[in-house]
Amino acid sequence: MRVDVISIFPEYFAPLEVSLIGKARERGILEVHLHQLRDWTHDVHRTVDDTPYGGGPGMVMKPGPWGEAVDGVLAADPASAPRVIVPTPSGTPFTQKLAMEYAAEPWLLFTPARYEGIDSRVMAEYGARLRVDEVSIGDYVLAGGEVAVLVMVEAIGRLLPGVLGNACSAVDDSFAPGSMENLLEGPVYTKPPEWRGHEVPEVLLSGHHGRIARWRRDEALRRTAKNRPELLTALDPARLDKHDRRLLEELGFPVSGENMAH
Ligand code: SAM
Repeated sequence: MRVDVISIFPEYFAPLEVSLIGKARERGILEVHLHQLRDWTHDVHRTVDDTPYGGGPGMVMKPGPWGEAVDGVLAADPASAPRVIVPTPSGTPFTQKLAMEYAAEPWLLFTPARYEGIDSRVMAEYGARLRVDEVSIGDYVLAGGEVAVLVMVEAIGRLLPGVLGNACSAVDDSFAPGSMENLLEGPVYTKPPEWRGHEVPEVLLSGHHGRIARWRRDEALRRTAKNRPELLTALDPARLDKHDRRLLEELGFPVSGENMAH
């Protein structure tokens, strides 16, 4: 996968040289190209922002440098086109599902902004000929989009084939489509079996795969009920067996759907 990022702080992306993502780059699974937005300015101050039309506080990023920068990136491969991801708190939520969708794309272009964001005409211009998604990583406001890009590239990058040591790790993750859709992963443990008087749940030492899978699912349901109860209302009734339904009822979330897993 090719990833391009245009930013006034390309140095913010040093963490992409480390750990899983760094290794994916070394192995050629992920190619990251960082671009300094100011390289597409033409004044001595390398200005990228101006006052907002309509008044109000803060500054808005000028369309000119963004347009030239995006054109410059597109020129790298005129035969193809990237999916453009514009981080903004007013975008659609970034989810595991979206991370999986992006992981299947060959080319992504991120446009992290600063100040009050990018002049909307930039999104209109490219939205007319490319897929442009305005995406939020959460209901809070960051000072700039660089951190949001780091979050998204890490979530997407670990899904690329060959990046995770064990491809199955992503299948059991919280939110993973399938049996974990709308569920949080339960607690995890490693050796030793007892630490400071805390014991690992006996079932995990039993070697009984069926009981372990059942325990993990129960814990996922319990944790979701405790930390993210709103997710339970989005569970697919067809994926819930009798045991799930009984537990959900005990937890105070009775299921009314007709279809049931066996
Ligand atoms: N005035 C904007 C608003 O209220 O929507 C906030 C602008 S914010 C200070 C500057 C930039 O940080 C945004 O344009 C975006 O690139 C990035 N940003 C801030 N919060 C974000 C979030 N939750 N998700 C994605 N990007 C975010």
